[in-house]
Amino acid sequence: MNTIRQLIKKAIPTVIPQRLFLVHGTPGQQSTDLQDKQKRPNVNVSFTFDDGPHPEYTPRLLDTLNQYHQRGTFFVIGEKAQQHPELIERIIDEGHEIGNHTFSHSEPSETSTRHFLDEIKQTDQLLTQITGRAPDLARPPKGKLTVGKILGLWLQRHTVVLWDTDPRDYLMQDIKAITDWCQQYCPQEGNICLMHDNHPYADEAVKQLSERQDVHIQSHIVSHWLAHKSYQSIINQQVVT
Ligand SMILES: [Zn+2]
Repeated sequence: MNTIRQLIKKAIPTVIPQRLFLVHGTPGQQSTDLQDKQKRPNVNVSFTFDDGPHPEYTPRLLDTLNQYHQRGTFFVIGEKAQQHPELIERIIDEGHEIGNHTFSHSEPSETSTRHFLDEIKQTDQLLTQITGRAPDLARPPKGKLTVGKILGLWLQRHTVVLWDTDPRDYLMQDIKAITDWCQQYCPQEGNICLMHDNHPYADEAVKQLSERQDVHIQSHIVSHWLAHKSYQSIINQQVVT
């Protein structure tokens, strides 16, 4: 069953526009230099952080992102955002991005389409109160969707964002586990990396990935990939019409 799900996950992005469903940023759309000052090859990715904000780990992670000039997308849980609106404001103020990760993170298999979409709407309303606008991006808990849920997200004008890189930081028990992963990770242009800011290791991962000697990993907000896409489609439309 898992294999079938993986195949579907791989096939969907090839037939559905990125504006609707994003698993991987389009390679080669960056115009930044191919090398940094230390002659490391540049690879552009997106770090994403789910299940926060967390009163201890999220501020620490934001400090680290700033220190290394990285940008991230935070898929926040509504009830946690309600408890820590100041962290939502800080995320936005520091140039990062917020996405909707439902209100209570209820178990997907036990959550009806209607309840799921109600939670998305409730979280949109809350985030609008805090930031002044509803997020464009949404990510379902555990990345699990049904046809009804995905259509509902599109009707609510959300881009569904999954990932292609998963260190499974939520299962890690010590620093060595994240260090091992950071060393063996071969970054590819457009990778969307799933991490969790309700666990301590996302911060360490950002630090270690930013300090890699063999490659310069530059993280952008997820909308970075969509902005280009949108711009490109406008250009194409103008050429056609
Ligand atoms: Zn989650």
